[in-house]
Amino acid sequence: MTKDYDFIIIGAGPAGMTAAVYASRAGMKTALLEAGAPGGKLLKTHKISNWPGIKEEPGSQLAMDMFEHSTSFGAVYEYGNVVEIRDGERKQVICEDGTVFTAPAVLVATGTKERLLNIPGEQEHIGKGISYCAVCDGAFFRDKETAVIGGGNSALEEAAYLTQFASKVYLVMRRDVFRAEKAVIDTVMSNPKIELFQNYIPLQVLDNEGRVGGLEISHTQSGETKVLPVSGIFPYIGADPVTGFLKNLPVLDEQGYMIVNSNMETSVPLLFGAGDVCQKELRQVVTAASDGAIAAQAAFRKL
Ligand code: NAP
Repeated sequence: MTKDYDFIIIGAGPAGMTAAVYASRAGMKTALLEAGAPGGKLLKTHKISNWPGIKEEPGSQLAMDMFEHSTSFGAVYEYGNVVEIRDGERKQVICEDGTVFTAPAVLVATGTKERLLNIPGEQEHIGKGISYCAVCDGAFFRDKETAVIGGGNSALEEAAYLTQFASKVYLVMRRDVFRAEKAVIDTVMSNPKIELFQNYIPLQVLDNEGRVGGLEISHTQSGETKVLPVSGIFPYIGADPVTGFLKNLPVLDEQGYMIVNSNMETSVPLLFGAGDVCQKELRQVVTAASDGAIAAQAAFRKL
């Protein structure tokens, strides 16, 4: 089946949803293509407190509001798991189920996917004590001990979130330097339920009757090992861009992030990138939304 549009947006996170608002308001026949639920990382974020105008609200609420807004000017929400983009006068966006979407302009806003720890015991305990989404699964660990891995904004925010359920949260960092904002670090440091293990890396996940029974960690300098008696493990060690379907186009850097100019356009004319999937310094909801607006407006002007 082939479906024709003026502008195809791949990914319904903050970047894609904002682009949908701008493109459809400008009168472009717009498709907002998504393989999961709309909202992107917002769905996995407990609270957003740096979206201007709203001091604090659940990520899921902002996702829902953005989604309603994104389709309110006529953009069509379509299901599609994209496997390839073919360049041409009308670009072809090819989905896993064989559906082909075509348009002269395409925006990729597929974001990033969480990294795995890649240690023994991880794969077999995913969903059995290992989760990459504290907001989704934190409540299963009421009065239990848990570990969060990582020293960035995500790890620290989710560690703080988990303390409403868990009796204890061990925060395991491979260095003694955080990558998070000061306000987030202060929240974590003042939380008596969080115990910090700096300069430790996870070695292996221990089993207890098919579920997580503990986490063995090792000191990066001395090599000393310890077992944390946890039943839940939440890795937050960064993420990689979702760009596998772009491999045939000359638009990616060595890490797989999209290279775009100030109009969010790649070296392929009318192929745009926006949000976390792009090479950039600051990955935030507000910068993703800004990218989406710029890309949609640039596509409109060029078409
Ligand atoms: P991140 O900032 O890249 O932090 C990843 C953390 O995991 C770092 O502490 C890193 O250690 C550690 N790490 C990486 N690989 C590891 C491994 N194999 N074993 C153990 N530790 C490992 O990732 P993020 O926290 O997911 O954030 C991603 C982006 O979203 C960032 O730009 C962040 O600022 C943004 N974000 C912002 C907010 C907010 O503004 N409130 C919230 C969430 C995310 P090293 O430091 O040693 O490399």
